[in-house]
Amino acid sequence: MKKKIVYLPQPGLREPVSFRSNIGISSETLDLLHKKGEQYGLETILPFRVNNIVAAQWVNLKCRYGCSQYKANWSCPPATPDLNEVRTILSEYSTALMLVGSQNRNDFYKDSNRNRTDQVKYWKGTVSLERMLFLQGYDKAISLVSGACSLCKKCAYPQACRFPMEKRPTVESFYIDLVGTLKNLGIDTKVAMELHETFKYYSVILLD
Ligand code: SF4
Repeated sequence: MKKKIVYLPQPGLREPVSFRSNIGISSETLDLLHKKGEQYGLETILPFRVNNIVAAQWVNLKCRYGCSQYKANWSCPPATPDLNEVRTILSEYSTALMLVGSQNRNDFYKDSNRNRTDQVKYWKGTVSLERMLFLQGYDKAISLVSGACSLCKKCAYPQACRFPMEKRPTVESFYIDLVGTLKNLGIDTKVAMELHETFKYYSVILLD
């Protein structure tokens, strides 16, 4: 099959970028992602095969019951794809990245401006890595972010999103059993029980 070559419209950039390389991800690209991710507090970036993702209907119960963002945020159900759509979408990818950040403060359960600032930082970091990957030739790259979108103090839902270019679904809205998926990746995780314990953020970029 003939390779599609796209010349990016950036001043001074003359090197062609080959889309759909289907070669996973190089260590050079990973280094670039790590450097950029660090600016946003993303400590770990782990490439993995998409067939390690566990998607299950029960995850949606956690969104519907016990979460204030259900039917209240564009990044959450029911505004996001249903399980059948999710399964189809996942079948169209083979590689993904797990992005991990952490927070060690005693107010992470509170609805505070500081928490929102951190959440927005991780959100923006994930989306900015997605854009960087797109420019590297991964045209299918799409982020699944950590926690309901907090770009606005109160989401405009059901009115039109104020920042549609930044809007992305959450990992959980994609029916992803995060703990089960992390287990498949050999990552040990546990619920933070005490205020002094470290709280982790996990986001995913579907890549290729
Ligand atoms: S950008 Fe604002 S309106 Fe759009 S999903 Fe996020 S919080 Fe809601």
